[in-house]
Amino acid sequence: MITIRPFLLIALAITGLLTAGCEGTQAPSADLILHNANIYTVDETKPWAEAVAIKNGDIVYVGNNEGVKQWVGEYTQQQNLNGKMLLPGFIDSHAHVVMGGAYVRSLSLDTYATPEVWLKQIKHFAEQNPDVPHLLGYGFLSSAFGPEGPSAKMLDTVVSDRPIFIWDEGFHGGWVNTKAMQLLNITSTTPDPASGFSYYKRDSDGNPSGYLLEVTANMAVAELNLITSESIALGASDIIKIMNSYGITSMFDASAHAFEKHLFATMDQLVEQQQMTIRFAGSIFFDAEKTLTELINEVKQAARYTKNKPYKIATVKIMNDGTVEGKTAGVFEAYQGEPHNKGETVFSQQQMNTMITALSKENIDIHVHALGDRAIYETLNAIELAKQKYPDSKTGFTICHVQLITDEDIARMAKLGVIAQSTPLWASYDEYGKAFVSAEQFSRFFRYNSLKTAGVALSFGSDYPSTGAGTLGMSPLFNIEIGHTRQNAGDKTGAIQPNKNERLDLASLIHGYTLGGAIQLKMQDSIGSISVGKKADFVVLDKNLFESDIYNIHKIKVLQTILGGATVYQNIERSRPDYPVQ
Ligand SMILES: [Zn+2]
Repeated sequence: MITIRPFLLIALAITGLLTAGCEGTQAPSADLILHNANIYTVDETKPWAEAVAIKNGDIVYVGNNEGVKQWVGEYTQQQNLNGKMLLPGFIDSHAHVVMGGAYVRSLSLDTYATPEVWLKQIKHFAEQNPDVPHLLGYGFLSSAFGPEGPSAKMLDTVVSDRPIFIWDEGFHGGWVNTKAMQLLNITSTTPDPASGFSYYKRDSDGNPSGYLLEVTANMAVAELNLITSESIALGASDIIKIMNSYGITSMFDASAHAFEKHLFATMDQLVEQQQMTIRFAGSIFFDAEKTLTELINEVKQAARYTKNKPYKIATVKIMNDGTVEGKTAGVFEAYQGEPHNKGETVFSQQQMNTMITALSKENIDIHVHALGDRAIYETLNAIELAKQKYPDSKTGFTICHVQLITDEDIARMAKLGVIAQSTPLWASYDEYGKAFVSAEQFSRFFRYNSLKTAGVALSFGSDYPSTGAGTLGMSPLFNIEIGHTRQNAGDKTGAIQPNKNERLDLASLIHGYTLGGAIQLKMQDSIGSISVGKKADFVVLDKNLFESDIYNIHKIKVLQTILGGATVYQNIERSRPDYPVQ
């Protein structure tokens, strides 16, 4: 034994050395290699590359065509991209897939048409959906029917065999047919929940005429079982597919609002049916009916429930004002023609302070809707206070939309490390919104370049279904072009949204749609750039964005979308769901 021992030690040492030598010269083989590509990595240490290697869904190599060869093994799939552009998968940092999913398969009326046109659209939709037991739609302008509102009798002329419910454009009133009223048992003796606000519109004899206001409309939607977790999941899977077709691989769901009770069931169903072809981070909406303690418990519970799921819900969404077009965004200077209307903030400064401080204490991420300069100012006051109180809190702060902001608050956002989230297509010339604000306010719309220059982190998304451009509004390329030109897509001679200096450079727009979104989601260690160790999420584009005519960027085709190394979209035949894509 004694004589053998040194020999054994030497033998082991040699074996060890040999093994180490093998590993040094030959890398383990990759599952997939994409080569001969124009790769813009969004990784500032190595912005451009030619090839990537993927193993187990992760990026294991980023470099040139020569270097990637060491990753080729017997079973490695290789794809020659023939010089096409490869980018990190896009991240939509603010959309409503669950809320949108509830309606995407329903009838969308052309809001600015006439009652005659709407009836034709309704008839057509009913004919196209003969097997749907109850029909759902939205989008008519209630004022088009005069003070009496729309009637069941009118709807009966086009659909009488099954119930139909149609929301007005603001989702405040519902138009139903006689069949629906029968099923809901709405008669002359049915009491109004709150007369003059939540009530059944009636004729001179007191008979309900078929127009349901506020709570009565919501009750009808619930009782007719028009929206279920199943129907939302179907719609949500349509939206996810459209997102994939635009190169999106991750998204933030900025609350399900009225459909929050369906949130988990919808998500679980998508996972079960293998429709979750996107990385999904969601949020819990803080509405006035919840106490702060209830909200915190709900978010903690959501975070626990989704901890080991392929989707995560752990952020709070707060709505702090409305919109400029609705004259409800909180602004410092009153709206034009309404000297006393400075919009609304949903919460008082005191309430915002309490809320944001309490959430900071719990390290919960916060996403605040604030469009107007006053709403942003008050939100930042609350964040400043919370940061003083809990300087070590891990809470991430995002203000979404950021339509109108002061110089002082741009500097404050940078100082406080608050992310500015926005939808670049809204930065096209705002012919409609112009009438509501002063020229000075108009010149401070969507100040992306000032925000960037000040050092504010930017993230971009669609706000679907409220894009203002239908499903096309989900396209990052469409948004990138407009964020860069501040004109309508493709419209070289069209009006430019002031201030022209707020045009944002392409690299920053791409950053906002990739790494910027990842930072907002706190996922920058795993997504957002093409770097070794991150997830293999990519989009392959027909043309190099940086070499395209800027007015043609929206026309660049997405050829392929890859999520964790697996192709989730390929532009062989551009197939889309069969509802009208706007
Ligand atoms: Zn939104």
